[in-house]
Amino acid sequence: MTAPSFEAVIGLEVHCQLSTATKIFCSCPARPPEGVSVSEIPANRNICEVCCGHPGALPVMNSEAVKLAIRAGVAVGSTIRHKSLFSRKNYFYPDLPKGYQISQYETAICEGGGIYVESKGQRKLIRLRRIHLEEDAGKSVHEFGVTLVNLNRAGVPLVEIVGEPDLSSPEEAGDYLRELHAIVTCLGITDGNMQEGNFRCDANVSIRPAGTTELGTRVEIKNVNSFRFVEKALEFEIQRQIAVVSSGKQVVQETRLYDPQKDQTFPMRTKEEAEDYRYFPDPDLMPLIVAQEWIEFEKSHLPELPAQKRARYLRDFALSDQDARYMTAQNAVSQFFENVISQFSEPARVAKMISNLISGEISRLSNESSKAIHESQLTPKHLAQVVELLSRGKLSSTAAKKVLNLAWTSGEAVDSIIQREGLTQENDASALEPLVAEILAQNTAAIEELRSGKEKVMGFLVGQVMRRSSGRGNPAIIQDLIRKQLGVKTKLES
Ligand SMILES: [Zn+2]
Repeated sequence: MTAPSFEAVIGLEVHCQLSTATKIFCSCPARPPEGVSVSEIPANRNICEVCCGHPGALPVMNSEAVKLAIRAGVAVGSTIRHKSLFSRKNYFYPDLPKGYQISQYETAICEGGGIYVESKGQRKLIRLRRIHLEEDAGKSVHEFGVTLVNLNRAGVPLVEIVGEPDLSSPEEAGDYLRELHAIVTCLGITDGNMQEGNFRCDANVSIRPAGTTELGTRVEIKNVNSFRFVEKALEFEIQRQIAVVSSGKQVVQETRLYDPQKDQTFPMRTKEEAEDYRYFPDPDLMPLIVAQEWIEFEKSHLPELPAQKRARYLRDFALSDQDARYMTAQNAVSQFFENVISQFSEPARVAKMISNLISGEISRLSNESSKAIHESQLTPKHLAQVVELLSRGKLSSTAAKKVLNLAWTSGEAVDSIIQREGLTQENDASALEPLVAEILAQNTAAIEELRSGKEKVMGFLVGQVMRRSSGRGNPAIIQDLIRKQLGVKTKLES
């Protein structure tokens, strides 16, 4: 008898921090000023009686948070409720000063909707159950052998985007999260900074014998804040549950945490049921009434969404699906890309080159400096000039990277960088000939390999001459010269 095969059933809940200026129920700042990170704000700087839950302090709804939640709902096809309620979710934790979290329970502001996900060439609708508004809790900091509480985050507005369990693999879950992240950042409702916890995910996962419909016991994996970690945590958890069931035991309903270092999930606590939280309508807040004009306003002001943008990039710029995905994953990147490409009369000629430089060298610079593309000194004009020179053979790709590196930090003009660093591409064969001869004389063993048909060696020899020319030589001309000097025929001739 062969072992039964299993299928996974996955549903994701995403907490997304809304980028309002102030908190959801008070006027404390909800986010750091431009250019400052959350960790640079002194602990308990942005707090007041309301977000600390002092007796008698009353919450006042922030209308900006409501508008952003409506925008999210409109973009994913939810029904926006004209009347929804806030409830208290009661539990004790040191970082929750009121002893309850204000959330939406019976009725959420947005119901239903869905997101299309493309996974392995298949387009699949992942339904949404609801999107509700709630406040974030504070943060416990464990250091110096004690636990300290920082309430700067208490009362920051969140939407929780609750998906139906329509996902069936870790990869599909990752694709769904990437799409959702692209949508909410494109809408401008969140900064979406995953390191700072602006976009974090709880994953519910269970397994069942393939082809059956009954749901198995589910496990919740809490607070994962990277696409890759969500995929890895789910992969581990599915295999763990299969092993439990295959050995004749039962999966325990519980909440687990994922440890990226060990690549394992481990139990955090047994899962609470909704009734454990003793939800009841918050008597301090009136029902949330949304006017039809607000919904109409958001509908008529929706930006072009990532899926539409991707389709346009495929059509107008002949980008590959993968490149189009990269260019549309972040607003700042797509704006930069479009700004560069608008400076060319034949965009399709240079689109691939622009996209490669953005996803390659510029992305590397961005990671290295922890700066987004629009926070650097590099402008779309810089990149357009580099691409123009590169596509006309007046700059080598090595030199192009050097220009981008220097412009990234200094913002200096492309012309003056090229002139000062002597980076103009050398297309003059007579100037390159002696360098080729010199390198060939030093590499007799490599030449033998090339003669015996090892074409890979050509790349090595061209690289050596490039280095000798300080990155200025035109690689195509160098290759030509090597073949001429050695009397080796080009591939096409042979
Ligand atoms: Zn406050």
